[in-house]
Amino acid sequence: MSTFTQYISDFFSLLFPDLCAACGKQLFHGEKQICTACLYDLPYTDFHLYAENAVAKLFWGRINCQAAMAMLYFRKGTKVQQLIHQLKYRSQPDLGFRLGVLLGERLVTASPRPDLIIPVPLHPKKERSRGYNQSRMIAEGIASVMHIPVGTTQLIRQRATGTQTKRNRYKRFENMKAVFSVQDSGELTDKHVLLVDDVITTGATLEACGQVLLDTGLTKLSIAAIAFAE
Ligand SMILES: [Zn+2]
Repeated sequence: MSTFTQYISDFFSLLFPDLCAACGKQLFHGEKQICTACLYDLPYTDFHLYAENAVAKLFWGRINCQAAMAMLYFRKGTKVQQLIHQLKYRSQPDLGFRLGVLLGERLVTASPRPDLIIPVPLHPKKERSRGYNQSRMIAEGIASVMHIPVGTTQLIRQRATGTQTKRNRYKRFENMKAVFSVQDSGELTDKHVLLVDDVITTGATLEACGQVLLDTGLTKLSIAAIAFAE
């Protein structure tokens, strides 16, 4: 960077400083999206170290998973809630990538290694209004660390999910499963897919996506998310 462009860049960062997406304080040079203090402070689950973690157990008896984990605990009023809010509603695709890198650093030694990373798709209308699919940004971040391709064309979302509250669990699952479908299923045969989402709550979305993917003849399915709402 020339002295002049450095000057312009410094000038703009004085006017519009980059702020930590978790605490809102100004970032120091070299910090990306999340400040060092917040990075240190976040409630990490360490689920990647334990096969029988709470997320894996959530899917027991529901879907055939090789491994499942989430990186952070999601609780209301915390920095994690703030991060997810920024990611989804404050137009911060780079934050998704950054969180994906952190997640990828935890998965990089995973064995067996996935062949392909697939993000949970958003409804196209929602993706247009948000400008990006946050799960795709997370997947790209993971991919940059693990050097595994991201598949964005195989799993598609057909329509927006209607209100789920009045339906029982099985009906909700059937309804949710109908939302997703697979194209180019041949590309998935005999693959180990890592399915990625932002937050796991009931697991219904991941279960539906995962089942639709497994039906195409995957050999293995693994699941990873940024946060887990207990
Ligand atoms: Zn911070």
